[in-house]
Amino acid sequence: MSDGTPRPKVLILGAGFAGLGAARKLHKAPVDVTLVDRHDFHTFQPLLYQVATDVLDPETVGHPVRDVVHHQDNLDFAMATVTGIDLESKTVTFSDWDPQTYDYLVIGLGSRVNFFGTDGADEHAYPLYTLPDAVRLKDRLLTNLEAAAKRPESVEQGALDVVIVGGGATGVETAGSLAELYYTVFPKDYPSLDMTKASITLVEHGDRLLAMFDEGMSAYTLDTLTERGVTVRLGEAVTSIGADAVTLGSGEQLAASTTVWGAGLQSVPIAGELGVDLERHRVPVGPLLNLEHHPEVFVVGDMAFTTDAKTGEVLPQLGSVALQAGEHVGKTIDRMLRKHKDPEPFHYFDKGTMATIGRKAAVAVIPPHDIHLTGRAAFALWGAVHLALLSGGDSRMSALTNWFWAFSTHDRPSRMLVHPNDDD
Ligand SMILES: Cc1cc2nc3c(=O)[nH]c(=O)nc-3n(C[C@H](O)[C@H](O)[C@H](O)COP(=O)(O)OP(=O)(O)OC[C@H]3O[C@@H](n4cnc5c(N)ncnc54)[C@H](O)[C@@H]3O)c2cc1C
Repeated sequence: MSDGTPRPKVLILGAGFAGLGAARKLHKAPVDVTLVDRHDFHTFQPLLYQVATDVLDPETVGHPVRDVVHHQDNLDFAMATVTGIDLESKTVTFSDWDPQTYDYLVIGLGSRVNFFGTDGADEHAYPLYTLPDAVRLKDRLLTNLEAAAKRPESVEQGALDVVIVGGGATGVETAGSLAELYYTVFPKDYPSLDMTKASITLVEHGDRLLAMFDEGMSAYTLDTLTERGVTVRLGEAVTSIGADAVTLGSGEQLAASTTVWGAGLQSVPIAGELGVDLERHRVPVGPLLNLEHHPEVFVVGDMAFTTDAKTGEVLPQLGSVALQAGEHVGKTIDRMLRKHKDPEPFHYFDKGTMATIGRKAAVAVIPPHDIHLTGRAAFALWGAVHLALLSGGDSRMSALTNWFWAFSTHDRPSRMLVHPNDDD
């Protein structure tokens, strides 16, 4: 809290990587910060697939925002949903809170699923972008299993078949983890079910998986998933999704009791209200990550179309980019206020890219010498990096325990259906 003297008000919208990064770097700035999110928790999106596939609990992948920021004296948190931004009156409106004014605004509201108009996707697909999405998918998979256990012959009729749309990191990581669950864990728990008859199919429109990595790594990913029982369909698009099947562009139908969508992002609706033309669904920002005609308004993270000031490259929608951009904006606002140093343009420091394919299998590229790793070394590195990035010591400890247990016993500790509205 401030000592009562009016100070510039910084309003940060979104407690994702970008919003929290900005908040942290303002902890010593002479400002009053209000951080707002529609949830009272921060989500570590890179591990959502582990909630969906019973490796981690939702409480490990989400972390209370108040616990992250409670030590910051100049910051208040409010759980509220943003509905509008008026740049001229410097006011933000909410569905469940009074309008708030600001001197500086940091917008980091992330992105949302893009079904690209695919017929039936809205109704039948399971996206994997938020913690509620991950819990819904987990629930669906376990509910289908329990239903199939009462009718074992239904497995052969497709009752447990899963189609995953999109061969990027979300699709690949989900497919790999699901294959372990289906072909290693569930056969122990459901001895009456012939899990070899349950299929997992990964459909990718392009001609290779993990297109952000090199071709050798894509080939390694394809081989690893195939060995583990996943059918990969490259060069195919899913054109419609029904309750128990998907249709491909060729007209072929695949049984799908569950269709997981990991194929695309689009901007949140607010992005269209900022008076600028969107680029690839994102808000273009200048070198200081602010709007050209409103330098007091910063847009960061997945929402922003950010060009690296040093390399001129358009930066990808990644957690590491969002965090660094948020931190940069926090420092920039501090510099603008104290006027002791000029703000600097944003340059992203690439610490590496990685994706896991499952137990002991991952791919990683480490700059600056472009070291390429696959297999156990990449898997170990992936685990260490993700553990370090999780918010809170309790989440790290819980992830470590669950990973150790899953790794050493081939079991999944978080395999339970809990419905808050169920009768006792
Ligand atoms: C499944 C998955 C796997 C990923 N894996 C990786 C990975 O391995 N490595 C990596 O670097 N990146 C990964 N990413 C990308 C990374 O998670 C994102 O780039 C990053 O989360 C973007 O941060 P952000 O702060 O911009 O947005 P977010 O983290 O999405 O945060 C936005 C926040 O805004 C809040 N919000 C949204 N709308 C409103 C509203 N109207 N009112 C109030 N609050 C609102 C949300 O609740 C959320 O807390 C992954 C993403 C997904 C979905």
